Amino acid sequence: MDESTAKPRIAELRSLLQKASYAYYVLDMPELADAVYDQLYRELQDLEAQYPQFISPDSPTQRVGEKSTRFATIKHNIPLYSLENAFNRAELANWQSRWQRVATVEAFEYVCELKIDGNALALTYENGLLSRGATRGDGVTGEDITPNVRTIRSIPLRLNLENPPPIVEVRGEAFLSLEVFEQINRDRQQAGEALFANPRNATAGTLRQLDAKIVAKRRLDFFAYTLQGLESQEITSQWQSLKRLQEMGFRVDPNRQICASLEEVGEYYDRWSTERLKLPYMTDGVVVKLNAFDLQEKLGFTQKAPRWAIALKYPAEEAPTVVENISINVGRTGAVTPLAEMRPVQLAGTTVSRATLHNADRIAELDIRVRDTVVIRKAGEIIPEVVRVLTELRPSDTVPYQMPTHCPECSQPLLRPEGESVTRCINISCPAILRGALIHWASRDAMDINGLGEKWVQQFVDRGLLHTVADLYDLTETQLLTVERMGKKSAQNLVEAIAQSKAQPWSRVLYGLGIRHVGSVNAQTLTDHFPTVEALGSADTSAIATVFGIGQEIAQSVHDWFRIPANQDLIDRLRLAGLQLAGEARTAKALNGAIAGKTFVVTGTLPTLKRDEAKALIQNAGGKITNSISAKTDYLVVGEEAGSKLAKAEALGISQLSETELLALLAPQDMASNADTLDAPS
Ligand code: NAD
Repeated sequence: MDESTAKPRIAELRSLLQKASYAYYVLDMPELADAVYDQLYRELQDLEAQYPQFISPDSPTQRVGEKSTRFATIKHNIPLYSLENAFNRAELANWQSRWQRVATVEAFEYVCELKIDGNALALTYENGLLSRGATRGDGVTGEDITPNVRTIRSIPLRLNLENPPPIVEVRGEAFLSLEVFEQINRDRQQAGEALFANPRNATAGTLRQLDAKIVAKRRLDFFAYTLQGLESQEITSQWQSLKRLQEMGFRVDPNRQICASLEEVGEYYDRWSTERLKLPYMTDGVVVKLNAFDLQEKLGFTQKAPRWAIALKYPAEEAPTVVENISINVGRTGAVTPLAEMRPVQLAGTTVSRATLHNADRIAELDIRVRDTVVIRKAGEIIPEVVRVLTELRPSDTVPYQMPTHCPECSQPLLRPEGESVTRCINISCPAILRGALIHWASRDAMDINGLGEKWVQQFVDRGLLHTVADLYDLTETQLLTVERMGKKSAQNLVEAIAQSKAQPWSRVLYGLGIRHVGSVNAQTLTDHFPTVEALGSADTSAIATVFGIGQEIAQSVHDWFRIPANQDLIDRLRLAGLQLAGEARTAKALNGAIAGKTFVVTGTLPTLKRDEAKALIQNAGGKITNSISAKTDYLVVGEEAGSKLAKAEALGISQLSETELLALLAPQDMASNADTLDAPS
């Protein structure tokens, strides 16, 4: 970024972060997710480092926290620093190299502690008695909240210490358990009050309650992590001070660990990134501290944070980034999806540079523009999406985005039917639609044509070798060899793989055709009831809709597909090429009695079967697969790390099966059917 663009960006970031900081620290009602704040803060820091002439004393990078004036202000005896953040292992390793440049030591240890997501408190003990409890505030001055602090049971009012020195300072984290946090929010909801965004803000709000009686009711907790004033008593390390704090009557988080190397720190971090979900309180990372006090002293502090400690944060599910372009993807159904192409950003552990914008309505609703700073989110397996635009950071000369009126692939007009949110290209010879259809046809669950990937499909279509999926079966090695970078062996293999795909069963052919709403499960159901393409192609909508599990919308879509002459031609050509357009009709009688007609949902990781394999076994035995739990579900087949589906099934009292139980349910039928065959007269 050059100086002229950096200057306004710095000013905008500063003002946005100041506003966010006020909402967060003073109002206890954050406007941004922490990860979003952290990253924008990082951007400001980097820009200020590059252009120091633009640093101003009121920049959020120049101070810790924010002052609030609800209580009397006090000056801390020793300032409360913040912590530097690392967001990945590389940044952690950088930190190690940095401190090692300042202090050369032969041996050292780290203490790893969980980073409790609460609020720092500074406690002063005079002659062993709690005399003051204060918030961190801006690090130099905080608020005197002694009456509130006195209500926290895990903070001793008197230190368990013989001959206490005149002043002992203890620091640690006040926090609310998740259970109490949820209770507080339930109460607030009932009272019609605004909810706290997270336990940390609820803790801050509670600590700064004016009525100590309310504070007492809210059951705040406290973990101590810093002890100052007992250095003379042979405490020479962080590990020892944690032990001593415990002896003095404080709660100390038991999940701490000494690590001899960054590898061990990494293992600790990895373990806690999942274990933390089982803890009754929130943590947002791990704090890594050099153990030896003499080494800590040698390294000292920067303006804001100790050089001897760092917070390694957990991957964020939300992050800010900048939209560099909005492009359009045309899918195999012709549906046009706008995509945001963004400055790459780390999100939930992966680098993300594209996010779906869904459709024109969504773009208009967000008013998302090229060069906007946006917040993107990725939760679990879900593809990243833009959740909001930070209009405060919008450059002054941007314009609203207009959806194109013509297909970027075939230049034909795009259509958006009245009442629908999807814009479509309806040109059946649009190369993008054809490419999508071919990739789907070749995919694993359809015709499973090994070697026919996106790259080749693109080239074959561009060269005019393929106009429909049926053309695949006329491709020759000689034709393939005319394509750039296609070797003899690859051409041979591909022709062979295409030929082999002719043996794929009728259900896969039907799925491969890519008829709207016909996924692999529906294709199987349909082919079970319509054993030939002729039977299905001539069935009317109501006949199709009577099949269990096939609704009106699917039936209509299948019926309409077969009425299009080009599709009839396609079927004729596939028949000529020798594909399987018929299979065996299976009736419920021939199927496993325990499973046929029952509805199953499969969730989690099964010990030996892939989820698709389990589904296929169930379907082959006449069971029906659905994706979501409802009162109509008969069984939930459940594996490791099952999520919300398991919870829902439990709530509805739906029977659960392990993989072993499922296999057992399938097995007796196998035996029975074998017996039938044996007994049957030949
Ligand atoms: P920080 O919370 O990232 O790290 C420092 C703090 O970690 C300490 O003050 C202490 O309270 C805590 N901590 C927990 N366990 C600890 C342990 N075992 N040892 C030492 N410290 C431990 O930094 P910060 O300066 O307190 O505040 C910045 C934080 O506030 C960031 O996470 C930021 O996202 C958030 N913030 C958010 C917004 C927003 O709009 N969402 C605005 C301002 C600040």
